[in-house]
Amino acid sequence: SKELGRDTFCFFEEKMNRAATERHALEVQLRQALERGEFQLHYQPKANIRTGQVIGVEALLRWKPAGQALVAPDRFIAILEETGLIVPVGAWVFREACGQMMKWQRAGMRPLQVAVNVSARQFRHPELVQQIAGVLRETGLAPQLLEVELTESMLIDDSEVVSRTMAELGRMGVGIAIDDFGTGQSSLRYLKRFNVDTLKIDRSFVKDTPNDSEDSAIAKAVIALGHGLGMKVVAEGVETQAQLDFLHAHGCDELQGYLLSRPVVAQAFAAWFRLQDVP
Ligand code: C2E
Ligand code: CA
Ligand code: CA
Ligand code: CA
Repeated sequence: SKELGRDTFCFFEEKMNRAATERHALEVQLRQALERGEFQLHYQPKANIRTGQVIGVEALLRWKPAGQALVAPDRFIAILEETGLIVPVGAWVFREACGQMMKWQRAGMRPLQVAVNVSARQFRHPELVQQIAGVLRETGLAPQLLEVELTESMLIDDSEVVSRTMAELGRMGVGIAIDDFGTGQSSLRYLKRFNVDTLKIDRSFVKDTPNDSEDSAIAKAVIALGHGLGMKVVAEGVETQAQLDFLHAHGCDELQGYLLSRPVVAQAFAAWFRLQDVP
């Protein structure tokens, strides 16, 4: 009936208004989060599959608004992107992550690599290279110890800025990894166009290995593809020994996932590392 139709419409409109209000509130809070020091990084180790040795960490952003629980990036990265806040926040992430690596080195820890996630808008920003160069200079971290993780969409972006940024990072010695490989629109042609160092097999393909034959076939194919192109292949989201055994058997180079460790705050990572890093 007409009545019902109108009620349904009002219901949806109200729901949409509520969503818009919530989003706006989040945006207002996020605008202040940086100066209030509400962002933090968690670190998740990556290890060599054959030797088990930890080679580095991925830095993962968290937000802790005062008096509220920790917020996961899935809830706010999109807003940072849309508002452009990702540029200053991303700069903070680089400074914090590289600074932490040097703190650990000065404390006598074996030098570790650090991977930093860079979103599309950030990567297209013409000052990214300068920003990264500045952070490396200020912190003193060797460029070879820094890797940026990009998504496949950056490979098909044929803008001048993107190819220049790729080339300059390569020249500087900063590593380039393709994150969530296999989930975006990847064109194999573009993989060889840029100096990509690492492919990260997306968690969704790792999840059901070795039981699911299709996912296992995809994981194997990504490993072969990466190696064929001279790249290192990392599996993310490794949670079980069976997954690890499968990846090991098929020559995957590195693993990352809950099996090794969840992402944790810097202090917790250092404590964990000290205990498990046998010389
Ligand atoms: P991602 O780069 O693919 O990061 C891996 C995500 O998988 C992380 O979620 C991590 O906590 C989770 N993970 C790791 N191992 C396992 C596992 O064994 N099992 C399961 N189920 N999950 C695992 P997180 O930290 O919530 O980050 C989500 C996404 O947010 C990241 O996905 C990345 O795309 C984005 N992100 C995180 N930090 C940053 C940042 O500093 N800048 C930008 N631009 N994006 C970020
Ligand atoms: Ca990543
Ligand atoms: Ca990933
Ligand atoms: Ca992912």
